[in-house]
Amino acid sequence: MAYRVVIVGGGAAGMQTALELKSRGIEPVIVERDIELGGKVRGWHKLFPTFVPASDVLFPLAQRVKAARVRCFYGQEVTDIASDGVTLRSGERIPADAVVMATGFTLFDAHRKQEYGYGLYDNVITSVDLERMMNGGGVTLADGTKPQRIAILHCVGSRDEKVGQRHCSKVCCITGVKQAIELREMFPDADIFNFYMDIRMFGPGYEELYREAQEKYNIHFVRGRISEAAETIDKRIQIKAEDTLTGRPLRMTIDMLVLLVGMSANYENEGIAQRAGLELAPNGYFKTVDNFLGAVSSNRRGIFYAGAVTGAKSLADTLAEASLTASAVDDYLKEVFNK
Ligand code: SF4
Repeated sequence: MAYRVVIVGGGAAGMQTALELKSRGIEPVIVERDIELGGKVRGWHKLFPTFVPASDVLFPLAQRVKAARVRCFYGQEVTDIASDGVTLRSGERIPADAVVMATGFTLFDAHRKQEYGYGLYDNVITSVDLERMMNGGGVTLADGTKPQRIAILHCVGSRDEKVGQRHCSKVCCITGVKQAIELREMFPDADIFNFYMDIRMFGPGYEELYREAQEKYNIHFVRGRISEAAETIDKRIQIKAEDTLTGRPLRMTIDMLVLLVGMSANYENEGIAQRAGLELAPNGYFKTVDNFLGAVSSNRRGIFYAGAVTGAKSLADTLAEASLTASAVDDYLKEVFNK
């Protein structure tokens, strides 16, 4: 009889973990809160740094999960987890020999940064809204016209003591560069500005793309944080910032402000962790045993992690980590059950 592993979350991490477990002769069961698989990547337009359509990664993954006949529970929320199974909100319990948490992250709610007017001003949008617009057939201002002057603001809801989010979300700098280039291709005559505190380009090909954005695509990178945004009578956005390289204050009127929202820990983590005896990191993500040999293991034997449930990660890193998680689960089953 195959050992059964419940995977909580059917995004990229959950799907890849399920496939890796299946290839090792273990029976994965996915419990997904949504009504379909895919997680946050669903609805994303193109992926950095290569501009591959997100659907080119997600659809084959979902197809493989289907072809492998992985059992999936949809529209189900997990309230409690233990190494021998999970409990759904409905009260149903799904027994298992191990559990993998792959519930990912929550996007920072831009409404919390009131000074930027998200939700108040029509032409202040988030990086996620921009992806949806690109996916939905076009980027326009609220009145349907083309933006001619666009600012992208980095670190919204990341590295920000005021909103209790001290961590760097890792992937938003490269997302900002990718989106600036996509906007340039859509609007060849527009002025495009990226306002940043630091540029963090940690992945392969990222630094090269950042250079290209400046040299080939003529994107203006301004080191400074926008302190506030206000709407003008003609629905444009006036921003105040300081250019920290020159030390000069800056005022600018733009057509569209894009807020690069960061990744936050899920609100539910705290309750789940308390009930399961799992440790959380100070930023609310689940804490792994260590960053080296126990990077996918929780402090409770039989409960493992995959993907951004333990911290901000790119899709590429998430997929790679899922294989590591499956391997750690396999080792655990061998050790505990003599598999
Ligand atoms: S990756 Fe860049 S934009 Fe994102 S939080 Fe880190 S420094 Fe800020």
